[in-house]
Amino acid sequence: MTNIHQLVSKHKDLIINLRRDLHRIPETAYTEKKTSAYVADYLNKLELEVQTGIAQHGVVGLMKTDRPGPTLMIRADMDALPLKEDTGLPFSSEHEGTMHACGHDAHMAMVLGTATVLNTIKNELTGNIKFLFQPAEEGPGGAKPMIEAGVMENPKVDYSIGCHVWPEIPEGTIGVRPGPFMAAMDRFDIKIKGQGGHGAMPHLCVDALEVGTQVVNALQRIVSRHMDPLEPTVVTVGTFHAGTAFNIIPGEAELSGTSRTFNPDIWNTWEARIEKVLRGVCESMGTDFELKYSQGYPATINDDAMAEVVRRCAEKVVGTDRVVFPEKTMGGEDFAFYLQKSKGCFFALGVGREGAVPVHNPKFNFNEDVLPVGVETYCQIGLELLKHG
Ligand SMILES: [Zn+2]
Ligand SMILES: [Zn+2]
Repeated sequence: MTNIHQLVSKHKDLIINLRRDLHRIPETAYTEKKTSAYVADYLNKLELEVQTGIAQHGVVGLMKTDRPGPTLMIRADMDALPLKEDTGLPFSSEHEGTMHACGHDAHMAMVLGTATVLNTIKNELTGNIKFLFQPAEEGPGGAKPMIEAGVMENPKVDYSIGCHVWPEIPEGTIGVRPGPFMAAMDRFDIKIKGQGGHGAMPHLCVDALEVGTQVVNALQRIVSRHMDPLEPTVVTVGTFHAGTAFNIIPGEAELSGTSRTFNPDIWNTWEARIEKVLRGVCESMGTDFELKYSQGYPATINDDAMAEVVRRCAEKVVGTDRVVFPEKTMGGEDFAFYLQKSKGCFFALGVGREGAVPVHNPKFNFNEDVLPVGVETYCQIGLELLKHG
């Protein structure tokens, strides 16, 4: 029986170096050119079947054991954020104004590390493993176009796993939650069209700015007055632009925002609810409006049995008391699309510690000792799902 812990430990420096190499060359959504070339080059060296250019920059490395069995997919996201790094790390971003501030460098290094280790014990496994690297997790979302390009077929993916570095739980712990874990996230864009004019003559105008404020307030009542208080939902208006001068009544206002829920039934009603509120306010105030509503990522809902597999495997790596049950989050993840096509689980890798800053912060960093923990967990899951007999 292979000792996974020893095997992964042997590769620790390699995994950390992969992360540092990738950290130096961050690229934002759908510009992941160098990153995907780096990933593809590495997978080619492992002699996997490598497919590139999927949904622009997506990469899949297929490991076949040539023994019948299920197909497991392990996913990493590749994109970075438009943010100026301020960590002072010796391997800081070489791309001014772009930074791996969401830990996707860690995600890639862990999946590449897992490919390295599992490739060495391929003879103990059955079926196939797809090591999948997708673009644009931060939006507009690379998972859906990857699936449309066929990554879940040939061979058909039975199980999907992925993880995210998670500052909300302590460093070295693993968070697993069956069922709903992350929210469905949408975007709406609103234009209110009134009639502009002199700031001293409101009776001759239709004030789009003032109507906009009523729309913002009315939208807040969807959650506070229409939703079951025991059902977590969010409607946030994130931008509001109107006006050019102190003495001009604006004829137009533009708003944008996001709505969130775990509940697929509510998810499908957001657009109608927002439209109804908007129409009510605008009609009563005499303005026209435009609503552009875009459904984003579905809720990330883990398969119960797969969450149990992840929990059991994580316990082998970090011990029973270091596998935790994380809070749900209203944040979204496009891993949700893979969960609609296969049994899967998205779990959290703890990086929280005293003074840790959140992801998307220019000082975001984590203790690299967690990388082998993630790799070992992936490897244990691979062994459990694909071992002989
Ligand atoms: Zn992020
Ligand atoms: Zn992220």
